Amino acid sequence: MTAIVQHWCDGKAFAGDSSATAPVTNPATGVVTANVALASVEDARTVIAAAADAFPEWRDTSLAKRTAVLFRFRELLNERKEELAAIITAEHGKVLSDALGEISRGQEVVEFACGISHLLKGGYTENASTNVDIHSVHQPLGPVAIISPFNFPAMVPMWFFPIAIAAGNTVVVKPSEKDPSASIWLAELWKEAGLPDGVFNVLQGDKTAVDELLTNKSIKAVSFVGSTPIAQYVYATGTANGKRVQALGGAKNHAIILPDADLDLAADAMVNAGFGSAGERCMAISVAVAVGDIADDLVAKITERATTIVTGDGTTNADMGPLVTKAHRDKVAGYVDAGEKAGATVVLDGRTVEADGGADGFWLGPTLFDNVTPDMSIYTDEIFGPVLSVVRVDTYDEALDLINNNPYGNGTAIFTNDGGAARRFGNEVEVGMVGINVPIPVPMAYYSFGGWKASLFGDSHAHGTEGIHFFTRTKAITTRWLDPSHGGINLGFPQNA
Ligand code: NAD
Repeated sequence: MTAIVQHWCDGKAFAGDSSATAPVTNPATGVVTANVALASVEDARTVIAAAADAFPEWRDTSLAKRTAVLFRFRELLNERKEELAAIITAEHGKVLSDALGEISRGQEVVEFACGISHLLKGGYTENASTNVDIHSVHQPLGPVAIISPFNFPAMVPMWFFPIAIAAGNTVVVKPSEKDPSASIWLAELWKEAGLPDGVFNVLQGDKTAVDELLTNKSIKAVSFVGSTPIAQYVYATGTANGKRVQALGGAKNHAIILPDADLDLAADAMVNAGFGSAGERCMAISVAVAVGDIADDLVAKITERATTIVTGDGTTNADMGPLVTKAHRDKVAGYVDAGEKAGATVVLDGRTVEADGGADGFWLGPTLFDNVTPDMSIYTDEIFGPVLSVVRVDTYDEALDLINNNPYGNGTAIFTNDGGAARRFGNEVEVGMVGINVPIPVPMAYYSFGGWKASLFGDSHAHGTEGIHFFTRTKAITTRWLDPSHGGINLGFPQNA
């Protein structure tokens, strides 16, 4: 019998009442390895209630005790991250080194949250009015929901839950149905670290689970990461139900390569950022904009490197794994068909890849298009696969216009040795995360992660000080200790005195 990946509720596995499930597949073999429970509304309410019940005690647990649990969680995660990486590779398909990389980036946020005591300090003003003092405090919101995509089953939840928990909130994580087991492993680790039951919960499911999280009165805030149409829906529905929402959406990240760039460095970067994790990264570079007469050389250098990439099972020495599902593999291959039909030059064709993996794996090799124009669907759409498009332009201004006219604004990069051009780009480009000779400029945990335009709905980016702000609310407390000189009735509006 195929195992069922269950929910995690109040410190233990929870089967729920719903008999609905979805298959979980190993993308490198095509074999269904488990089925994931899909919550009913009642199941979702049970899990949310556990988070609500645990909130008062966790909120009142001292900062010293809360952060002690985080330190233990960090140590356990660091010791045992190989176990989690194996789970990620088995359900997502990315190679093990990449799975370890995503865990390390998530761990950075745990480390950031270990120091939350400093960041939760409020302000204090003595004698704001005569014998009147004011101070401010940052308090947790209550139970919060984290809804995550398939492509980072560990890192994306970790962008949010360390800060939410350290700040005194309780959490319900709703993982992607495609790779649901990483969240359960993390839940077990929290228990081992000593987190009280009910503070960290996992709700498996689809739209039914998400809709309950968006409308249930107990949930005070929602952090979502996924595609733009769903991000927009989550933002609209969550805010209409009175919740604080940050909803991170899709991307179409461009890199500009100026004529003075180091073309070897730029070609390395295009290959790493275009084909790493089979292009299933929201910070992947999917468009290389070659400025001036360097395009032929750049394409040659990318081709030379990309042909050495071994596509195969992520548990072997392959460089690039399969796509997450057969349906997604076929959708990406459909874009390759469309690009060819639209007249782009197919320089490398991933459809013919001979992968080092199972015959039924969801394989597509690195694909490189040249002479791509902005009207083609391979340019306009987020493909989310190992497909890199080269667009040729004459000037920096044309390249900048391409980016600023794009509906997305997640990440971008410029490759140049001209400091003035780089500085101008940093200033003018309408994108949330910018790399100067850095292809995937994911900020460290103490900065905040987030895009602009259709890549983020809401006003708070993930982690860093914006994360602290998102998971707390501020209260200003005005104090006067009784003094006979301040007695007497005065119906006027309080004024400074
Ligand atoms: P997705 O939008 O299909 O799913 C994301 C989450 O929403 C999942 O938990 C899923 O169960 C849920 N969901 C799906 N359909 C829903 C519906 N109709 N109603 C309610 N909930 C629904 O995204 P995905 O395919 O899992 O992930 C890939 C996408 O995520 C890409 O677009 C990628 O760019 C984006 N992404 C963005 C960032 C970022 O930081 N901006 C990071 C990672 C991934």
